[in-house]
Amino acid sequence: MKIIESIPEFRSLRQNLNGSVGFVPTMGYLHAGHIALVQEARNQNSTVIASIFVNPTQFGPNEDLESYPRDLEADTVALKTAGTDYVYYPTVEDIYPPTFDTYIEVGSVTEPLEGRKRPTHFRGVATVVTKLFNIVQPHRAYFGQKDGQQVIVIKKMVNDLNIPIEIITVPTVRESDGLAMSSRNSYLSERERNAATIIYRSLNEVQSLFKNGQRDAEKLRETMRNVLTSEPLAKIEYISVADTDTLNELSVVENNAIASLAVQIGKTHLIDNVLLIQ
Ligand code: AMP
Repeated sequence: MKIIESIPEFRSLRQNLNGSVGFVPTMGYLHAGHIALVQEARNQNSTVIASIFVNPTQFGPNEDLESYPRDLEADTVALKTAGTDYVYYPTVEDIYPPTFDTYIEVGSVTEPLEGRKRPTHFRGVATVVTKLFNIVQPHRAYFGQKDGQQVIVIKKMVNDLNIPIEIITVPTVRESDGLAMSSRNSYLSERERNAATIIYRSLNEVQSLFKNGQRDAEKLRETMRNVLTSEPLAKIEYISVADTDTLNELSVVENNAIASLAVQIGKTHLIDNVLLIQ
């Protein structure tokens, strides 16, 4: 496995690759969720490229850019073990030189849920993903269902801008008690970590209600809310049962839906979702 840090070096390497290229963009501090994306990319492509870049433009002014966990050494070992061929590890100066002044704004799917509290977040995500796509030029790119709105935003962008890359979604990888793996889980104290199990219990409950035939979206949201409010450490940020393409809130689930939630536990913002599929 080779680590590449400069754009010219990457470009010349890319010209010499034959066959399909699978790309896994990450912010590092890798866990089994990221590795599942790499494994899926490995199964489907001749070459697997991962990137590690803590993207400043997707963090708001009061968010955790400075304290975001980093461990390049452990990440390198994990990526190598999972069969990655190349790791692209760009510098902030290369991605955002002082003259940089172009951003990608995806429309209404960026407004609800995460977009409400973090108004510039998806602009940062869409911009960096476009730049990474242009540098890496993959055939397929892999994203986790864990960040459900992000997948919807990226698919919308790729479709609207005719970007010739197939977007593959990989199911959420969970801890044994159901908590979705996340680099941000490392912020949780033991007490908060225990409290965080309420998230999956709430999603489990909504999923079983849906399986039992409940299609009234407000009833589904209410169930999630009731479970979450039983945990005093979990401060609800949003609860949603929405269309899987537009993220419009539903009143009745006619086909499929995405049930999403965000809570704040201590200082940590945690998100999760499940698909409600007929
Ligand atoms: P991040 O490093 O948090 O930007 O995540 C990089 C990629 O890994 C994104 O596509 C995430 O959705 C995905 N990812 C993060 N956590 C998980 C998880 N628990 N299961 C599956 N994919 C994940």
